[in-house]
Amino acid sequence: MTRTYITTTLPYVNARPHLGFGLELVQADVLARHRRLRGDEVRLQTGTDDNALKNVLAAEAAGVGVREFVDRNAEAFVALAGTLGVAADDVIRTSRDPRHRAGVERLWRACAASGDLYRRHYEGLYCVGCERFYAEEELREGRCPEHGTRPGLVAEENWFFRLSRYGERLRELIETGRLRIEPAERRNEVLGFIAGGLEDLSVSRSQARARGWGIPVPDDPDQVVYVWWDALGNYVTALDFGTDGEAYERWWTGSDRRLHLLGKDVLRFHAVYWPAMLLSAGLPLPTEIYAHGHLTVANRKISKSAGTGVDPEALVAAYGVDPVRWWLLREVPRSGDADFTVDRLIARTNDELVNGVGNLISRVTAMVAKYRDGRVPETPADAPALEAACRQTPDLVDAALADLDFRRATAAVWAIVDAANRHIDETRPWALARRGHRPQPPWTPPWRPWSVPAAPWPGN
Ligand SMILES: [Zn+2]
Repeated sequence: MTRTYITTTLPYVNARPHLGFGLELVQADVLARHRRLRGDEVRLQTGTDDNALKNVLAAEAAGVGVREFVDRNAEAFVALAGTLGVAADDVIRTSRDPRHRAGVERLWRACAASGDLYRRHYEGLYCVGCERFYAEEELREGRCPEHGTRPGLVAEENWFFRLSRYGERLRELIETGRLRIEPAERRNEVLGFIAGGLEDLSVSRSQARARGWGIPVPDDPDQVVYVWWDALGNYVTALDFGTDGEAYERWWTGSDRRLHLLGKDVLRFHAVYWPAMLLSAGLPLPTEIYAHGHLTVANRKISKSAGTGVDPEALVAAYGVDPVRWWLLREVPRSGDADFTVDRLIARTNDELVNGVGNLISRVTAMVAKYRDGRVPETPADAPALEAACRQTPDLVDAALADLDFRRATAAVWAIVDAANRHIDETRPWALARRGHRPQPPWTPPWRPWSVPAAPWPGN
């Protein structure tokens, strides 16, 4: 039996969740459900990144205590998984979960034991939005390419991780496919970054800059562990890595697939820093990394701070969970970005879930009731195209999801609905029934088409 461990990233909880994180949750959920149905043992892990400096700054801006602010937003992220029907096996909150700090400390000590952590004075340009340092040449006219803000100059004594030691091994692991990175252009991006030479990475900051929030560096309480080190560690700390629990043996060292889902903007952290940390600590690496594209909303970049996100809770409340899940799976490409609008959600829902699936079910059940006394006939219909679609779909879905291609998987499912509706239109069962032995009343369509109203939507 295959054992599969699937994770989402941990979102920062500096604001309420937007639809972009909903995409990742739904993708992870579909992979987990599919593998479970195929008989795998599956664990789906998600959670929240509570310890980011930007959470602290957002709390200050809101005039709320950090603990209260983080708890409130983190609850909204945890609730979103439920709203979207995501069957997560475990949710870790990095500031609350006792497993987490113990695990981060253990990971830190393991890397220190390998001689990969050292202290030095450092000056650099730090973007709090990204929670990372930038080199001058990475900036656009002195501004963060992600946030458009000017990074602040930080000068302090930090702990550094000897990332520079691991470039060659990472390159080999990625090139041989032992660490699979999808899609291919993301893999090439990582290989290009490694080929450019890896520099050692600052992995702590002063307590003062961290405002005392976060996990203290083991044996150096003046420093706080870099939030990315902290957050990446969750993939093993949630498995009781720090407390010698059996989940670690079972789901990390003992699983066949360790799959991380993430957005393309945090690729480097997952495909370079995290595997290097694991190599240093002598732990197994993830087997697969899938970086999905970004959602835009009406062609604007989703930004929690700029208020251009879509609230997935409100969306589900207005339109239901199935339309939202279906849209995310059906329209977001395997590679590249997708643009969300409520009009597109409504159009997709009406075309496929309502007119496609809904009417198919309505037609079939109505005709079975009317022409077959409510019993499904034992002799199957002569419908070769429909039969073929049904026969092929499981294999097509397996292949598409092995490829992390949700559009292809939903297209395979859709082919059944399409073939069934076509079959009904072509064979006209109501006409056949009318010519049959039993007298029939004058024919009226036994189903009534219905549609989702185009409700007004804020900002659309
Ligand atoms: Zn930034």
